Amino acid sequence: MKTVAVLGATGSIGASALDVIARHPDRFRAGALAAHRNVDALAALCARFKPDLAVIADASREADLRARLRVAGIATRVASGAQALIEAATLASCDTVIAAIVGAAGLESTLAAASAGKRLLLANKEAVVMAGPLLRAALDAGGGELLPIDSEHNAVFQCLPPARSGLDAAGVRRILLTASGGPFRGHKREALHDVTPARACAHPNWSMGRKISVDSATLMNKGLEVIEAHFLFDAPPERIEVVVHPQSIVHSMVEYADGSVLAQLGNPDMRTALAHALAWPERVAAGVAPLDLLKIARLDFEAPDRETFACLDLAYGALEQGGSAPIVLNAANEEAVAAFLDQGLAFVAIPQVIESTLEKVQGAPARTLPEVVDVDLTARRVAQRIIASAKV
Ligand code: NDP
Repeated sequence: MKTVAVLGATGSIGASALDVIARHPDRFRAGALAAHRNVDALAALCARFKPDLAVIADASREADLRARLRVAGIATRVASGAQALIEAATLASCDTVIAAIVGAAGLESTLAAASAGKRLLLANKEAVVMAGPLLRAALDAGGGELLPIDSEHNAVFQCLPPARSGLDAAGVRRILLTASGGPFRGHKREALHDVTPARACAHPNWSMGRKISVDSATLMNKGLEVIEAHFLFDAPPERIEVVVHPQSIVHSMVEYADGSVLAQLGNPDMRTALAHALAWPERVAAGVAPLDLLKIARLDFEAPDRETFACLDLAYGALEQGGSAPIVLNAANEEAVAAFLDQGLAFVAIPQVIESTLEKVQGAPARTLPEVVDVDLTARRVAQRIIASAKV
């Protein structure tokens, strides 16, 4: 029996994770659930899963959550605030932590789970982008293991040999990350000036949270994934290639020295990656429909349009530059996406905001968590100024 802490329980990944957990009451139990502000959803999950601990990050909502659980007669302990997220990530009763908070807000709890030696199921790619070396050090110190949930990295993980001895020793030539191309694949920049949040969030294949949906539309999601793959698989940027595959059936591939290319295929449903990582090294049912290759009939591949979707090369550039550039990239992207979703920043301005922020913030390598947080906050302030001046 594995007891699982789900950080980001009320989100899209949280829902998929809890669906898999509920299918296997003999194997998995939800021991802790955490969310940001959504008391309604968190209270409903507590009623269903009866965790030991429920954390609402926004402390102003704690009393509301506490009252609802009391009225419903649910004995789950309630806590709130940033420290409570760390508590959920390190709870003694949980051996597994699903890091599925969106954005930099997930960084500290992800690192805490790694330091505590948990089995870390990582969806929160922003944490790796910001602090890949710190996360590696925390995993080494804690003695736990990381299993990627991002479907591409989960696919690469499945296509690599079990012993992690480095790409060369394993005979790996390249990692091929697939990208759906998002809702605007085939569009040129001129056609993207009046894109609305609703259109950007309407992903053709995946149902996801709003931030990652916009990232998919700009191709920044793939850029973040390139950086994530670099840190997770110790792969230099020139050995990570992005291939657009509109059907989202091949989730990624590994090319070997002998010319073999191993791919992981499946329907686009995050429950496959979650079930794989929850049960690893065993396999369990995920509730995902079997892949019907005859119905799919064809699999297409094409090169990404790097001119229209400039975020991809901005991410490669930040990775090559190193130091704190990936932190700046991520912070500027989070600010630009939030401004696009809530304040009317133009969709096409997102890469411009990121590029300008990268030019203005050139921090030294950030080696500790306070240094990472410092660069992140500086980059956010600069990005906010750029956004304010970009708006009409
Ligand atoms: P959602 O927006 O659907 O959910 C985000 C979750 O994080 C919610 O539970 C939310 O709580 C919580 N949250 C947000 N801010 C905070 C905060 N400050 N403190 C604590 N909790 C917070 O996102 P997704 O599930 O789509 O994505 C989650 C992560 O997984 C992202 O990093 C994304 O890149 C990654 N990912 C997602 C995939 C997908 O298919 N969705 C695929 C691969 C990776 P509340 O509901 O209360 O706001």
